[in-house]
Amino acid sequence: MCKVIVQKEKKVKLAVNGGISFGAKLNANQLRVLADYLGDQELELTTFQQLYIEVFESDLEFIQKKFKEVELFCYPVGNYVKSLRHCNFCKGAEEEGMPVAIELNKRIAGRPVPFTLRPAYTGCPIGCGEPLVNDIGVMKSRKGYDLYIGGNAKGAYAKTGTLILEQVQPDELYEAVEQVIDLYAENGKKREPFYKFVNRFGVENIMQYVMNDSAQIE
Ligand code: SF4
Repeated sequence: MCKVIVQKEKKVKLAVNGGISFGAKLNANQLRVLADYLGDQELELTTFQQLYIEVFESDLEFIQKKFKEVELFCYPVGNYVKSLRHCNFCKGAEEEGMPVAIELNKRIAGRPVPFTLRPAYTGCPIGCGEPLVNDIGVMKSRKGYDLYIGGNAKGAYAKTGTLILEQVQPDELYEAVEQVIDLYAENGKKREPFYKFVNRFGVENIMQYVMNDSAQIE
């Protein structure tokens, strides 16, 4: 008797959100598109301004295209840089640097790293985007941007990040954040959380690297 083997199609988890705007919001159109795809599937709300859904691998390209039409953005789940958590930009997009947050997100979200990395952005020192308790935190302050690294909000090792750059302009900020992520991607151990990497590698060494002094790092 011949045996029929039914292979289950593989599903992948996707993180979805409405992009960087005035708060982490979704409109009715976006919800409709999500509901159309989900059917009776459940959707998971995360604390990082993302929704998790599961899609068939073969649907992935189509889903991403459909979602993009209504400005729903998709990111990989797992050992990647997450999309930028952000504040509500309550004092205005330009004043609080929304274009900078959008550009930064474009450059770093979805990059593979040893362990999930959470970057956060906030438009003023009140800090609603919680940059100091995330792996990489950017704070707009006065006429520039401050960069913090190594914050951790969870467990007994919760701590605030360390300020490594102060009052820099957007290009310098993008470069520095990308350098920090490159360094972690190349030197972090498998599944080593970013704050542990910062402790092991040393803030001073990371600062040297960011200041283009990487030759001094052993
Ligand atoms: S961090 Fe500042 S700009 Fe952003 S929502 Fe809070 S108060 Fe408003």
